[in-house]
Amino acid sequence: MEERNPLSLKEYKVIANDAIAPGVFVLRYRRDFTFIPGQVVAVALHPAHQPRMYSIASGMQDEEVWLLYNIRPEGELTPPLSELIAGHSIFASAPSGSFYGKAAPAVWIAAGTGIAPFVSMWRSGIRRDKLLIHGGRFLHSFYFEDTFKGALRENYIRCCSNESGDGVFHGRLTTWLQQQPNLPTDRKYYLCGSAEMVVETRDILIEKQISYDNIVAEIYF
Ligand SMILES: Cc1cc2nc3c(=O)[nH]c(=O)nc-3n(C[C@H](O)[C@H](O)[C@H](O)COP(=O)(O)OP(=O)(O)OC[C@H]3O[C@@H](n4cnc5c(N)ncnc54)[C@H](O)[C@@H]3O)c2cc1C
Repeated sequence: MEERNPLSLKEYKVIANDAIAPGVFVLRYRRDFTFIPGQVVAVALHPAHQPRMYSIASGMQDEEVWLLYNIRPEGELTPPLSELIAGHSIFASAPSGSFYGKAAPAVWIAAGTGIAPFVSMWRSGIRRDKLLIHGGRFLHSFYFEDTFKGALRENYIRCCSNESGDGVFHGRLTTWLQQQPNLPTDRKYYLCGSAEMVVETRDILIEKQISYDNIVAEIYF
C-alpha cells in the first residue's frame, strides 16, 4: 500500500461498471491503498478535469474499490462515466475525508446513493447496534438492501416516497423521522445525502432533542 498526495490523481483500470438500478451504477477498480470506512475518493476521466467526489462503498478488507453513483443527466462526469467498461481508465485520488464509521451505537440516515459509506462501514465489520434509515424515490432505490435486510431486520427502515411496497414506509425519510415519538438521544446520528436532505433531517433531529454534537453529516453537493 502506498502513501501519496491526497490531491493527485492516479490512473486505474475499471474492473466493472454495472448498472444496479435504472441510472445507478457500481464502478469497481483494484484497491492499492488503505482507508477508513466513510472516506471518499476524487474521480475524473482525465487528469486535467475537475474531479468529483465519491464515497467508497466497499469494505476495508475488499480487494476492490466500489463506487456507487447515479447519472446526473446534465452532469459533466456521470453520463460519460456510466459508459465505461472493463479495461477503460479512470483517474482517482487517494482516500480523504473524516466521516468515519465508529463502533459505538449509532443511527445511520442515508438518501439515495448516500447509502455508500454505510455499506463500507457495514462490510468493514462496523455493525453493532446500528439503526439504518434509507430514503429513496422508488422501490429499486434501496441499493445494497440485501446486505442489510436479513441482518438488521427491524433496524433497517426503507422510506420510499414515490411507490409503496411490503415492509417499506411510504413517504420520505424525514416524514418517518417526524413520526417517531422517541428517538434515542444517547448516540450519534450520521447523515449522508443531498444538502436539502441533510439540512431538513438536522432540523428534525434538533427538534427531537438530539444534541447538535451528536449529528455528523456528509453532504453530496
Ligand atoms: C464528499 C462527497 C461525496 C460524494 N459521494 C457521492 C457518491 O458516493 N455517489 C454519488 O452518486 N455522488 C456522490 N457525490 C456527488 C458527486 O461528487 C457529483 O457531484 C455527482 O456525481 C454529479 O457529478 P456530475 O459531474 O455528473 O454532475 P455536475 O457536472 O457536477 O452537475 C451536477 C448537476 O448540476 C447541474 N449543473 C451543472 N452545472 C450547472 C450550472 N452551471 N447551473 C445549474 N446547474 C448546473 C447539472 O445539470 C447536474 O444535474 C459526493 C459529493 C461529495 C461532496
